[in-house]
Amino acid sequence: MKKHVLLYKVLQPDVLALLKEHFEVAAFDGLAGAAQPDFLAALEQAQGLIGMYGRIDAAFIARAPRLQAVATVSVGYDAIDVEALNARRILLCNTPDVLTETTADTAFMLVLGAARRVAELSQWLRNGQWKRPVGAEQYGVDVHGKTLGIVGLGRIGSAVARRAARGFGMRVLYTARSPKAEAERELGAQRRELDALLRESDFVCVLAPLSAQTRHLIGARELALMKPSAFLVNAARGAVVDEQALIAALQERRIAGAGLDVFEQEPLPQESPLLAMPNVLALPHIGSATWETRHAMELCAANNLIDALAGRRPQYLVNPQVLGQP
Ligand code: NAP
Repeated sequence: MKKHVLLYKVLQPDVLALLKEHFEVAAFDGLAGAAQPDFLAALEQAQGLIGMYGRIDAAFIARAPRLQAVATVSVGYDAIDVEALNARRILLCNTPDVLTETTADTAFMLVLGAARRVAELSQWLRNGQWKRPVGAEQYGVDVHGKTLGIVGLGRIGSAVARRAARGFGMRVLYTARSPKAEAERELGAQRRELDALLRESDFVCVLAPLSAQTRHLIGARELALMKPSAFLVNAARGAVVDEQALIAALQERRIAGAGLDVFEQEPLPQESPLLAMPNVLALPHIGSATWETRHAMELCAANNLIDALAGRRPQYLVNPQVLGQP
C-alpha cells in the first residue's frame, strides 16, 4: 500500500507525477489553509511532508502523528523545528548544491545592481525623467577591483567568491566558523573576524544560515563599523540582519545602500520604509527562482522523500542522528 504524503507547494508536473507514482498525495498550495479540516485530515494521515515556505513548528508536527520524513524544497531549514522532529526521530531532508550557482548569481546581481543603482535608474527612465545624457546625479560606483566581504563562506558564499575573484578581480574577505583552505588557495580569499571584515569591505554579502547564533548577527553596532561608502547585500535570510537597524543606517546615510532578497517579514509589507528608499534594491526572495533550479530542487526533494519513506538514507539528510548515524 502506498504511503500518504502531504504536499504544500505547487510542483512542476513531472515531479508531481513522480510523487504520485510512489505515494497517495494530498496537494495544497502553501500552508495558508493549514487550519482547514481537509488539511488537518491529510496531516493526520501523512507519513511524509514536502513543500517550501511557511513555519513547521512543534504544534504543527504534533498534528502529524504518523509523520516519518519531511522534505523541504530549500537548503535553509530555519522555519522548521528540527528539535521537535528529532524528538520523534522524523527525518528532515533539504536541497543543497542544486541551487548554489543560481543563488550565487542572485547575490552577485544584488552587488552589481546596488552599486550601479539599477532599480532606481530603471524607474527614473520609466518615469520619463531621461531628458538628457546622465550626469553625476546618476553615477554609481565600480564593483571590479573592490573588496567583497562574505559573511558565511559555505557553498553559496564560495560560489559568490569565485565570481568576485575570477570575474571581477575583487579582493575577497570572509567569515565562517572554520577556515576555508581551498578558497584561500584558489581565490586568495582571506579570513577575518567579523568586525574587521565589516571595516574593510566595500560590499558586505550575508550568506550565513539563520540560526540562534546568527539571528541579528548584523545589527546597529555592526552596521556602524561599515564604511559610509559600503553596500550591504543579504541573500541568506532576513533575520540574520536586524532590519530596523538597517533601515536606520540607510535613512541616516551611514551606509551607501543595500541589495536585499530576503526580509524579516515575508512577503515584505508594502509600507516597509525599505521600499521608499532609492538606494535599496529589493527583490521578492528570488535567490533560487529559475525554472531550471526550482525544477532541480523539487526533483531533489521528491527523491529525498522517496528514499526516506522507503527506508533508504536520503542523499541530503539534515538530521542523520535520528538514524543513529553521523
Ligand atoms: P552552507 O554551505 O551551510 O554555508 C553556510 C556558511 O555559513 C558556512 O560557511 C558556515 O561556516 C557559515 N556560518 C554558519 N554560522 C556562522 C556564523 N555564526 N558566523 C559566520 N559564518 C557562519 O549553506 P549554503 O548552501 O551556502 O546556504 C546558505 C544560506 O543561504 C542557507 O542557509 C539559506 O538560508 C540561504 N539561501 C537563500 C536563498 C534565497 O533564495 N535567497 C537560496 C538558497 C539559500 P562553516 O562552513 O565554518 O560551518
